[in-house]
Amino acid sequence: MLGVYIYILFIIIFCVILVSISFIDYYFQIQKWKNIEQINYGFGINRRTAFIDNLGYLRWKKDNKLCHREIAYNYIYKKNWQEYKMPFSKYEVHHKNKNKLDCKHENLEILDRENHRIRHGEIIFYNNRKFIRVARERRRYVRTKKAILIAGRWIPLSQIIFRHDWIYLADWCYKKKFEPK
Ligand SMILES: [Zn+2]
Repeated sequence: MLGVYIYILFIIIFCVILVSISFIDYYFQIQKWKNIEQINYGFGINRRTAFIDNLGYLRWKKDNKLCHREIAYNYIYKKNWQEYKMPFSKYEVHHKNKNKLDCKHENLEILDRENHRIRHGEIIFYNNRKFIRVARERRRYVRTKKAILIAGRWIPLSQIIFRHDWIYLADWCYKKKFEPK
């Protein structure tokens, strides 16, 4: 008899935990969306009109399109179209404060692929030479005095610079060794 009571008690505890978890989750969702609506105030972004995709970007429910691209197009590109040489679809849109959920036009910047990579530190210039970010510096690499082994390729140290915990490889060398054509 006691066993049955314990069994029922466990089921009740389990249900209570399940209900609390869903309440806590609901509460955090509400808070999250309050914050998103506040950040993007005036752009019509809310829980009924938009959702967060699995890459963490806001999309419109009506047409599945990315909110930040649409806002960048309407508030920046359309108003200054003379400044842009290419059609909007060829450009990338950058979030200045790195918050993907902040789609205010002040936070957005329309850039071509190269300039976008420069903004993100994937491309840097040193002594008028272009360098491409290839790997983390803190990893242990097989190396000699003159070369280092990265991604299965020996690269001369003369073609490499170390910056902010990253290894950058000279552009021509990158093209030759990392994108064989
Ligand atoms: Zn960006």
